Amino acid sequence: MDHLETAPDQSARILELWAGFVPGKRIGSLVDGAILEGTGAALELIDPTNGTAFANFNDAGDAVVDAAMASATLAQRAWAAMTASARGRVLYEIGRLVRQNAEAIAELECRAAGRPIRDMRGEAQRVAEMFEYYAGWCDKLHGEVIPVPSSHLNYTRREPLGVVTQITPWNAPLFTGGWQIAPAIAAGNGVVIKPSELTPLSTIILGILCEKAGAPRGLVNVLAGQGSTTGAAAVGHAATALVVFVGSSGGGMAVAEAAARNLIPCILELGGKSANIVFPDADLDRAVLGAQSAIFGGAGQSCVAGSRLLVHRSVHAQFVERYAQAAGRIPFGHPAEPMTQIGPINNRRQFEKIDAMVARGVSEGARLAGGGRAGGALGQSGGFFYAPTILDGVLPQMEIAREEVFGPVVAVMTFETEEEAVALANATPYGLAGAVWTQNVARAHRVAAGVRAGTFWINGYKTINVMSPFGGFGKSGYGRSSGLEAMHAYTQPKSVWVETAENPPVAFGYSG
Ligand code: NAD
Repeated sequence: MDHLETAPDQSARILELWAGFVPGKRIGSLVDGAILEGTGAALELIDPTNGTAFANFNDAGDAVVDAAMASATLAQRAWAAMTASARGRVLYEIGRLVRQNAEAIAELECRAAGRPIRDMRGEAQRVAEMFEYYAGWCDKLHGEVIPVPSSHLNYTRREPLGVVTQITPWNAPLFTGGWQIAPAIAAGNGVVIKPSELTPLSTIILGILCEKAGAPRGLVNVLAGQGSTTGAAAVGHAATALVVFVGSSGGGMAVAEAAARNLIPCILELGGKSANIVFPDADLDRAVLGAQSAIFGGAGQSCVAGSRLLVHRSVHAQFVERYAQAAGRIPFGHPAEPMTQIGPINNRRQFEKIDAMVARGVSEGARLAGGGRAGGALGQSGGFFYAPTILDGVLPQMEIAREEVFGPVVAVMTFETEEEAVALANATPYGLAGAVWTQNVARAHRVAAGVRAGTFWINGYKTINVMSPFGGFGKSGYGRSSGLEAMHAYTQPKSVWVETAENPPVAFGYSG
């Protein structure tokens, strides 16, 4: 368990944070340092543990988007005028404030998104690390001097793009918010971020902490609103210089199309259908545990979830038996309980989608080896509790083998040869992640090279870190929004030519 560096007055802090932006349980968008009421449709935030509304707001709408863009544009100019070292100090301070408020933020995310408190405590620390990591990059991103074959001094500058519009989903709003905001502002940009309309609160907190840490007011504006209205308005806004979209592949296509109309580049972080491959020579005890965390962690609401479990035919029967027994023992319940490892599904629509996909999998011939809608008190709670679910005997042509479920549902398939395993892993248009379990080093590296995916694990699953590039192949998206790659993605190079000759020849064509 991570050591938590928390303020002594945690209960006071959470009330302060909560009261600061949820007056009378009304929320709004964080624009230019203030909370603005939206003008669009009435929306509610629903507690996933009981299905009841706990806050409400109006969709931000065009006027709020305009105000956010104007604020980010002005703030970005002030931010870019600061020295890189001064910007780095602000990012470091944001990280410190996240650590100081970690317990309050974790509690809020647990309550609002239904995610287990033990996971949220860790995630709050990861978010602090994101700002700390990019704090270090601020004054280390520089251009180059290029030895051109003429009398010129030629150098490059890496300049920020301006205002970056970021759109994020509901599954890990705090984590994704930090992951996107930190590199964008480290590179000198302003941000307008629209988290999912289902989970805007933790991103609003991050925006507030950015300003508290010394960022110019309005450097990070947070829109509370829907995708098709507020999100689309932000993507299509004239001030947007880059769109970063984290969400479904369908949403990514719509956003990329809209951005293309303004010739705006995109980074797309989309869905997945990742394969977790188990060879018979693997340490099967560890593989059973790893394959559980791969799909059941976060109740499967993870883009990198190992939703396809490919097991060698020779160990398949014993593996599935042990796996099903172990899955039934994972602490599953209310996310605020300290031991809970699997909480509810975030929202009713997703809950029903998961259930319908499981039913279709069974009707197509898969065998339900455990799981389904929760029974007992959890089933009666009105919340969206779905037990860890194992569908065995899945064939490649079934929907459950091809489409993302985004829930705690694993599709188990078998293979005979390494070639077949790699071919099965690559048999979807997605390419986000994957893993192999084997003690054969050569095979591990062959499979890692053969599987088409942006992230791959050998004898492990789910480790990601802001220092390492993360992103998709194929329909899982393009571009990278972490590591040093993100600093490049969030800037553009400018080439500057300085004549150094006393009497240089004047050229009318391209020269050099
Ligand atoms: P979604 O595509 O429905 O929505 C994502 C976000 O986009 C939301 O904020 C939504 O309001 C907004 N949006 C939707 N249509 C829009 C439009 N036309 N213009 C602008 N904004 C629009 O996805 P979701 O259901 O919220 O999230 C689940 C999906 O996200 C899964 O597919 C999951 O794999 C993916 N995901 C990917 C990553 C990654 O890093 N690759 C991380 C987390 C989640």
